[in-house]
Amino acid sequence: MYTAKAYSVASATSQFAPDTIPRRATTERDVQIEILYCGICHSDLHTARNEWSSVMPTTYPCVPGHEIVGRVIRVGTDVTAYRPGDLVGVGCLVDSDHTCPNCQADVEQFCRNATFTYNSPDRHGTAPVTYGGYSESIVVDERFVLRVPTNLNPAGVAPLLCAGITTYSPMRRWGELKGKKVGVVGLGGLGHMGVKFARAFGAHVVVFTTSPNKRGDAVRLGAHEVIVSTNRDEMKQHTGSFNFILDTIAAEHDINAYINMLTLDGNLTLVGAPETPLKVSAFALLFGRRSLSGSLIGGIAETQEMLDFCGKHDITADVEVIPIQKVNEAYERLVKSDVKYRFSIDMSSLRTK
Ligand SMILES: [Zn+2]
Ligand SMILES: [Zn+2]
Repeated sequence: MYTAKAYSVASATSQFAPDTIPRRATTERDVQIEILYCGICHSDLHTARNEWSSVMPTTYPCVPGHEIVGRVIRVGTDVTAYRPGDLVGVGCLVDSDHTCPNCQADVEQFCRNATFTYNSPDRHGTAPVTYGGYSESIVVDERFVLRVPTNLNPAGVAPLLCAGITTYSPMRRWGELKGKKVGVVGLGGLGHMGVKFARAFGAHVVVFTTSPNKRGDAVRLGAHEVIVSTNRDEMKQHTGSFNFILDTIAAEHDINAYINMLTLDGNLTLVGAPETPLKVSAFALLFGRRSLSGSLIGGIAETQEMLDFCGKHDITADVEVIPIQKVNEAYERLVKSDVKYRFSIDMSSLRTK
């Protein structure tokens, strides 16, 4: 065991403060990673503030962060895939049981025994729970380490490990998007990645937004068209015309307005999680044999596929790089959606202070 510098919160109402945390010594299958960048995901904020207490109560101290990019500094004796110096990533998962049907099917994110990167019981017993990427280093089983393309800006790669795979996975699963009309609802951390992927898949990309002033940005990110969802006429013109819609909104909203945008056999997939149940109109689904789905990140193999795809198509998240000392300020801004489109913490700021 060794100790690593980190930023943690001590309670649901505490600010982040410098801390030291235990990390396990590298076992045979482990990779020790010096963290270069860590993205700030909305889940980090919900967990730090114990806002998901009914489903996943937070154990304190809490060190969030599951959008990790770093460099390998040490590998265990049985590690074959990585060597010191390699550029790697770690996403939302750091372990699973490897034996259940979901693990066998390469969808470890649905393993009942999955270990999440932070606030998950630590099966190695190093600490009560796992600690995430707001830290100078992390030790992870090589099976949960991803290879990061070296042609991309690592600060912008970090958010791919959660926001990227969350939007990439449902679009890939839906099928061939080339030439199809694809809608992305909401232009935040998830939405902006959805637009980039849909465009790279060759779709006709349409962004739905409530803010007309996001039009320019949507087009710059790759949208062919922008619909201001509060404009009834604009919405009406597109009724029944979409093959696939990715809904990234985490707040309450009229889901039926978007289901009605789908064509025959069209699908709307939710990746945002509003706190209160959405009211779904059966009629909206019946007429047009439309379907409504949900999706949660992706398995390790698919996450690697996504990173390779990003390397090939030069895709990264649009990030605002901050030092760790500004993390409290960043959280306040995140609540107000005041970021284009993801914060990425430069973890060298933790080492120098
Ligand atoms: Zn996340
Ligand atoms: Zn499993």
